[in-house]
Amino acid sequence: MTMREKTWVLERVGPAAVVQLYADAFATLAPSERRLAWHLYEAALAGRDIYYDQRYEHGLVMRDCIEALFVGRSHLPAATAHAIERYTKLFWINSGPYEHITARKFTLDLTRDDLRDAILTVQSAGVAVPLGPCATVDAFLDAYGRDFFDESWRPMVTSKTPGPGQDILHASASNLYVDVSSADLNAFEERHALNSRVVKDGNGHVREEVYRVGGRYGATLSRIVAHLEAAIAVAPEPTAHALAALIRFYRTGEDADRRAYDIAWVADANPPVDTINGFIEVYMDPRGRKGAFEGIVFHENPDKTAHIRAIAAHAAWFERHMPYDEAYKRADVVGVSARAIDVLVECGDAGPMTAIGINLPNDEAIREVHGSKSVSLANVVEAYEQSQPESLREEFCWSAEERDRSKRWQALAGELTTSLHEVIGHGSGRMAPQVGPPQAALREQYSTLEETRSDLVALYFIADPVMVDLGLIDAAVHDEIVRAEYEGYARNAIVQLRRVRQGTHLEEDHMRNRQAIVHWLMAHTSAIERRQRDGRTFNVVVDVAAFREGVARMLRLVQRIKSEGLYDEAAALFEAYGIHFDSALRDEVVARVDRLDLPSYTGFVMPRLTPVRDAEGAIVDVEVSYPLDLATQMLEYSAHYALADEDRQVLAHR
Ligand SMILES: [Zn+2]
Repeated sequence: MTMREKTWVLERVGPAAVVQLYADAFATLAPSERRLAWHLYEAALAGRDIYYDQRYEHGLVMRDCIEALFVGRSHLPAATAHAIERYTKLFWINSGPYEHITARKFTLDLTRDDLRDAILTVQSAGVAVPLGPCATVDAFLDAYGRDFFDESWRPMVTSKTPGPGQDILHASASNLYVDVSSADLNAFEERHALNSRVVKDGNGHVREEVYRVGGRYGATLSRIVAHLEAAIAVAPEPTAHALAALIRFYRTGEDADRRAYDIAWVADANPPVDTINGFIEVYMDPRGRKGAFEGIVFHENPDKTAHIRAIAAHAAWFERHMPYDEAYKRADVVGVSARAIDVLVECGDAGPMTAIGINLPNDEAIREVHGSKSVSLANVVEAYEQSQPESLREEFCWSAEERDRSKRWQALAGELTTSLHEVIGHGSGRMAPQVGPPQAALREQYSTLEETRSDLVALYFIADPVMVDLGLIDAAVHDEIVRAEYEGYARNAIVQLRRVRQGTHLEEDHMRNRQAIVHWLMAHTSAIERRQRDGRTFNVVVDVAAFREGVARMLRLVQRIKSEGLYDEAAALFEAYGIHFDSALRDEVVARVDRLDLPSYTGFVMPRLTPVRDAEGAIVDVEVSYPLDLATQMLEYSAHYALADEDRQVLAHR
């Protein structure tokens, strides 16, 4: 047999790279485990369109139309076809008309007349072009034209800092609130904070539309439930128990059932196949309360799991050695489990753009009592490493030594800090008495603060001798690895600006947090110098010890802000260091990456699972394959996993 080289980068689309994700170890699972993975895969994808609708109320109507134009693009003039191809692919990668990372709208590079002609041409070639509820092309363009063309119409999907006098909910285009302002919610008690849309009707009455069977997205959630029931039939006991709890939550929508599910999911510490399915992360909501749908299915990567397990096994040691106030340390650290995993599918909020590490559940009260599960996404990390162009590093390193250090150690340092961030960072610390959930106290500052805290924990402990004691880093190269990590972190505050081509402020929480740490260190320590050479700007780490001392100091501050729920201090911290950036520097960075034709972000094509059936049609096994094409996969998903018709009708009749 000949080994064929894997193809990683499939194509470039504007600012994005499209990369294939591989799941080679799927073949090593038992057939019953592969069957379980299949049902969970179906359950994940069944919810994909919920996320499109949550993200933007017109997202699904827009997608139906542009997908038809994409399919019929051979009938169009080349320039029109090219514009539609680019827009459709970016729409898929970002799950709608807003960039996942910057939260900004991107537009279709055609005029209204061009689009009108394109629809009519493709229709007359015999391709059906869905126009949502509209009877004519003109009516469609009147209703949706601004969504495609007008950058200033509903410009941000999430806007946590819209400027003085503007309300964060009115300034955010996501579909989590309808005609509701922050002030409306002060007097309104949400019973389903995570899994509802809040709507103010014509009489000024505020109510929750709960995501549950029989509620909003009810028919689609029923389909997810049916797939989960099929999964239970082939799942081992602790997994079956957790899936049954998830079904109960989807049926009732009650927060008590969500808590029961979180507890059951954490208790199922090492399942052969696991899933994250539901309304999980709150980054899209400017208030940080509403969960966005995501579906992920994964299994352990046995070769890569040793490091993260060693870190999790010593969670109590890390907690005792946190540099912050004793009062904020957890007395007993329980139930911390961690593994390296391979992703089989990620959709909704989790894909095609994906995280590299996950720690759940997000409910602080459950983490403190029952613990948490962390995963590092080994096959995603590998795909990133294989697809990242060498010239990105070359361009932003100050010296050849820095570049070589990064080349040598970035993968290991990145793996260890991601594990520390997820397992130890998010899992650590506790709230002061009577403060309540930090999301409620810190509101739109919460997510950025929590990411800052976890990054600081990772930066602090990567330099601790414990890394050598645990066998994770060789003593002889420890200093070198710490320096490489700190240099990479400082460099990133410049490199990440390539992703924000418009405006002068950041929206995405991880970007804000990384900017905040580097700029806080620059203001309060002598660790980092900003230097210029040939019109190019660099962040250079000149004092590693000062860097770590500053990290410890900032961590003490950030932990106090979280534990005490100090909203004003959090807002001041990010206003000063995290949110705003120098647009001249950004323009310089954009010019540098454009000269080198470097991508700003990556969308992944997922592995594809296919059941193998016997003569009676029963599923006996499941095979994995790789589509190697974004459009093929996205069109397949849209055709096979569309939002249930009953749910679509509700959307249309609003
Ligand atoms: Zn995080």
